[in-house]
Amino acid sequence: MLFKLHPDTPKFQVFVLLNQELIYFLNKSIKQQRFGRRLFSYTVVGTACWDNYKIPSGKSDLTRDKFKKLFENLKNETEGTREQLHRLVLDNQDLSSFFLTPNPALLDFLLPNTFEAFKVLAAHLYGATKDLQPIINAAGGVNIHEHFEAFRVETLNGNICKACGMRELAPFRANIGVENQWRADYDHQLCKSKYPLFAVHPDNLIPLCDVCNQDAKKAKNLFATEDISLRYSFYPFSEEANSYISLTIENLRDPSPIVKIRWNTGEGRLVNKLDTWDDVYEIKNRAEGHFTNIEQIIENEIDPTEFEYFQQQVQRRTRSISGRTLKSKPWAYWYHKFFCELDSIHEDDKVAFWERSRFVHNNAKEAVDYIFKI
Ligand SMILES: [Zn+2]
Repeated sequence: MLFKLHPDTPKFQVFVLLNQELIYFLNKSIKQQRFGRRLFSYTVVGTACWDNYKIPSGKSDLTRDKFKKLFENLKNETEGTREQLHRLVLDNQDLSSFFLTPNPALLDFLLPNTFEAFKVLAAHLYGATKDLQPIINAAGGVNIHEHFEAFRVETLNGNICKACGMRELAPFRANIGVENQWRADYDHQLCKSKYPLFAVHPDNLIPLCDVCNQDAKKAKNLFATEDISLRYSFYPFSEEANSYISLTIENLRDPSPIVKIRWNTGEGRLVNKLDTWDDVYEIKNRAEGHFTNIEQIIENEIDPTEFEYFQQQVQRRTRSISGRTLKSKPWAYWYHKFFCELDSIHEDDKVAFWERSRFVHNNAKEAVDYIFKI
């Protein structure tokens, strides 16, 4: 995460309840011989899960059916294994300690079919069961749309993605009720296909922008590289990358100066977490890519007419930015870094850069004037 989450970020109560129900079910599955109502808690949530099943003509299985499949597979495991699964889920409820000592092979002791059934149930709890009205009612009436609006209020997290700082979570539309606002997808920090035990854990789900969630992260594993060696990751509620980033502008006198992003720390574990963050969300490529055409950025941002004005405007943009701006303006963090760097370069380089960008600008302008004339 570029920025950690606000400490008062509300937990989505529907996930709290579903997570409790899942643990209850795993516990009851240790001893119970047959699939039945007693595997579920005698609460509104337990009843809602039990009552949600495929009618004979139904096309696809519903919540109860998914629980049943997992139960049947658990019966193929030993009682010791079922106990081990329940104990392990219970012992790993504190995600901050899991981030401290991650174990990507957590569920490797299960038979492949059991793991598969667990995954299918987990995906269903997240994708469908969370929207059952009795469960929403039991969770104080707050559905996922309302939770998202509470998450992004400006006094808490704001509408800018915490992972990248580059995009809005979702556009806010006037004249539209909460139910119909567009919302960001909730990213499973620990993806549900590899860590089904955290599929509805309330601390595991964080709204992210579509690029972070859908284009960059997908199902990447926060704790294992592609060659499955162990790596570490920032815990989104308490750790952040923003003070370890250095942005430099290189080849300033070349036709195409470039922006490079690096880490300003050599501390092993921290570098490992920064590298994971970069690998998962493609931070460096996206930031360096955004600043590919520096002259265009300066024209868009400042459109300077004189060197003195250019210098003043660059300097003005080095003033520290408020938390409110960081939470409401895409790229604010990155532009601030960029202008601080531009301001700090040697005067001669600055003049040379300025002269060249003027030249490019004037040529481009003449071309545009020419197009308008004909
Ligand atoms: Zn993002």
